[in-house]
Amino acid sequence: MISEAVPVLFRAAHIVSQRGDDGPEPEALAVAGGRIRAIGDVASLRDRFPGAEVVDLGDATVIPGLHDAHIHLGNTAEDLLHLDLSAAAVAGVDDLLARVGAEAATAGPDAWIRGSRYDDVKTGAITRWDLDRVAPDNPAIVVQVAGHWGVVNSCALRELGIDEDSVPPEGGEFGRAADGRLDGRLIERAVMNVIYPATARGDSPLRPSSPEDRLRGVARAVELWHAAGLTSICDALIAPDDIALLRRARDEGLLTLRVGMLLSIDHYAKARALGVGSGFGDDLLRIVGVKAFVDGAIGGRTCLLSEPYADSGGHGLQTTSTEELFGAVRTVHRDGNRVGVHANGDAAIRLVLDAFEAAQRETPRPGLRHRIEHCSVVDSGILSRMKALGAIAVPFAGYVAYHGGALNTWYGAERTERMFAHRSFLDAGVTVAGSSDYPCGPYEPLLGLQSMVTREGLDDGEPVGTSQRVSVEEALRIFTVGSAEAEDASGVKGRLAPGYLADFVVLGENPLTIDPHGIASIPVRATYVGGERVHGG
Ligand SMILES: [Zn+2]
Repeated sequence: MISEAVPVLFRAAHIVSQRGDDGPEPEALAVAGGRIRAIGDVASLRDRFPGAEVVDLGDATVIPGLHDAHIHLGNTAEDLLHLDLSAAAVAGVDDLLARVGAEAATAGPDAWIRGSRYDDVKTGAITRWDLDRVAPDNPAIVVQVAGHWGVVNSCALRELGIDEDSVPPEGGEFGRAADGRLDGRLIERAVMNVIYPATARGDSPLRPSSPEDRLRGVARAVELWHAAGLTSICDALIAPDDIALLRRARDEGLLTLRVGMLLSIDHYAKARALGVGSGFGDDLLRIVGVKAFVDGAIGGRTCLLSEPYADSGGHGLQTTSTEELFGAVRTVHRDGNRVGVHANGDAAIRLVLDAFEAAQRETPRPGLRHRIEHCSVVDSGILSRMKALGAIAVPFAGYVAYHGGALNTWYGAERTERMFAHRSFLDAGVTVAGSSDYPCGPYEPLLGLQSMVTREGLDDGEPVGTSQRVSVEEALRIFTVGSAEAEDASGVKGRLAPGYLADFVVLGENPLTIDPHGIASIPVRATYVGGERVHGG
């Protein structure tokens, strides 16, 4: 008989196990072979596993590994190689332009100047002509934080072959100034065709960085995210290039984060031809499903609403035709694969539910649970249809903290009571996952927890839709158990219980007992994936 490895016992003052039965919280975890073998008090675990080493984590609180169900690793790997123009990084419009100018001054001729995470609300508006002043000879693009629009300079417009008479692509727009001239804004499909290799239709002159550089970007993102307590993520928009990149990261031992993948619908035919679909892969790198889009963004104010925007009027944009949406959902569903459809506005969500219901009628697959990515604006009708379908909601955890009172201005205080509706999803029995959608929102999951619990802006302290508050216990389950369910991994992730992956976070304070306004600043002392320390001491 082959003897099993002797486990290592991790002991801490508090362990939040979410064990799923009525048993008491354990004093220690016994870990071997990357999984949790047993939980309990130190004395009995020592009796059971003589000679086991004990790692004493002291006064720390151990929680299950945090799991971001919708984030963008491939994009982040690329963004981290270019200018960071986020509200946290730049002091204002002048500072932003100075950074673009400095980059242009040292760049080679024709080299693209790329900046991302630009927040027009916090930083201020920029136009094509501002960029022309600081980067007259290089094409430049500054992408807004939500990723659904960006601003380019005149040189870039020329490179992209866009002039005053150009017709925007379907599902996209070119922004125009008051005098009717192009102001450099590329909106929705118009910007996606330029910056996202995963969804580009046609060739973009903006090429992704070399695989070696992108690999450096992946390593950097993984390090940042482990330091924030993440052990699992789902990259919500994957192209074949990204799979090659992540596979290489894995082969070179850089991928210590568990990565799920939603393949772009634009590349689904290839995966389909190979017979590759949901669940393909292993505990480290796995296909979760297929990603499709219906509407625009919350922060970009382009999502498809049944009632107009409170400040600017208008109902937002449908970026994929209804026919194309139904076709995509029908195909993926018929193949037995999960689809995750980006839908923010209530009108967009109803379209997605129509498509899900039609696909289920045509080919009943009761166990196949599709996802609605963001699912931001809901009502009781949407909730009951989701419950009946077993559809999963993947809303923004941290948008209230990030955008604060601006949400009330854009959407109206009545509607924000039905947005990022964590409380309503739980009450309606709809599975709800935790997600940041970084780079669209801050990636730190502890900030996401705080936001869901307090429903207050971080900068302005403004309350936003406070009827959607959840308890800290509920928020933590959303970011662990809920996210695991959204990728069909409930049996191995989200709990610290026998048989589960040994993924956990060591916190300097107990989020269940401190003032919830302090949750975002709790120190992450260490992060473990498969029982191995991937961050901290
Ligand atoms: Zn996203």
